[in-house]
Amino acid sequence: MTRSYKTKLHVANDAQNDFLILCMAVKRKLFNLYLNVQFGLLETRKQLYPDYDAFKELPKETQRQFYISAAEFEKVFNHVIRVSGSYPAWWDQAPQKTRKQAFRDAERAFRNYFKGLAKEPRFKGYHARQATYFSGSIRIQRDRIRLPLVGWLRLSEFGYLPIDDQLQKTGYHITGCWVSRWANDYWVAVTTDEPAPIRPVSHTGTKLGLGIDLGVKDMAVLNTGEKFINISKTHYYYHVEKMKKRWQARLAHRKIAAEESFAKNHPHQKAGHLTSRGIEEARYYLARWSAKLAKINKETVRQAIARIVKLKPPHITVEKLNIKGMKANPKMAPSLQKLGLSYFKTWLTWQCQKHGIELREVGTWYPSTKICHKCGTYNRVQFHGTMADLAVRQFNCPHCGLSIDRDVNAAINLQQATDYMVLTATE
Ligand SMILES: [Zn+2]
Repeated sequence: MTRSYKTKLHVANDAQNDFLILCMAVKRKLFNLYLNVQFGLLETRKQLYPDYDAFKELPKETQRQFYISAAEFEKVFNHVIRVSGSYPAWWDQAPQKTRKQAFRDAERAFRNYFKGLAKEPRFKGYHARQATYFSGSIRIQRDRIRLPLVGWLRLSEFGYLPIDDQLQKTGYHITGCWVSRWANDYWVAVTTDEPAPIRPVSHTGTKLGLGIDLGVKDMAVLNTGEKFINISKTHYYYHVEKMKKRWQARLAHRKIAAEESFAKNHPHQKAGHLTSRGIEEARYYLARWSAKLAKINKETVRQAIARIVKLKPPHITVEKLNIKGMKANPKMAPSLQKLGLSYFKTWLTWQCQKHGIELREVGTWYPSTKICHKCGTYNRVQFHGTMADLAVRQFNCPHCGLSIDRDVNAAINLQQATDYMVLTATE
């Protein structure tokens, strides 16, 4: 199993900073080069064989002429493009494996596109999020990492990455690592090849399993009554969001101002890519605040799950998320995006796998919010129609007279559910 460890890097050295930027630039240029060639081939194919179904009937060899693999492209690149005069010499400064990976990434982008898994590949621009690949002799110590041709880099977080001694003992090895740049910070993601962590756990915590109701008012509610708040409703979150919006507005204003002043001073010219110190400043702060928001969202989810997993339940039951249906509700759509409920699910699955907890998923048809957990009566008095009214916070059973928080009732119903699918893999 491939596992990836991502952590922040301190790049204080100018030479290293410049080199990493160069590697990212090379990766971007080569990625775009491949895209250019592949799009050209696609275009020719469309002109020669406008009918795609007829083209599919042709022999495989003819079809292959309109597709170039990463390995083939690398040969063309080395024997044709590099010997021609148009090749910039600084591309050669990046490690060979970094260059190779750029073609592989581009090919994968196309393959996913052909399979219908992804959108049409896009050319990477200077302002997009950048990443570059390193493999070969990577060494890791408690507080630093050594990358080929870059040298030692200081880590922000000590003791998270698997260190050399540890790796030697366990026999795992590092397959490679990605260095990315996001809002002026560097991150490193080290990928290792290690067996899937399925551990038998002694369930000393709660004897019963847990039911978790995911929602919009509170991010998660447990059947024990414990609630994890929706962070996007806190003052701090509002503040960060406000700062992001403010810089977004500033960037927009400054761009308009630059265009207007260009049109005034150069009446007969077409404005290309305009920039100024103000625009760059706004771009920088916008990126920083956006990154901060993203980090808050991620960390909230991870901290909540860490607390849930610590309870050591034998199983956890969640409801299958109907994200599309929820997004159709205009009141729910904006808060849903902030919450990242799908990330909650992804991370919970992984953590359950890691700690040997069975994760169960109940289908969307299960009326967890609408039935009484005590007597099982379907509450038609309070919850009718397809969309349960979110304003109703208290569940009052018409049959047995039980009065309970509606989310807690839903969580208990989930805990007791008997018809489910198991998401975690078992041995
Ligand atoms: Zn009841």
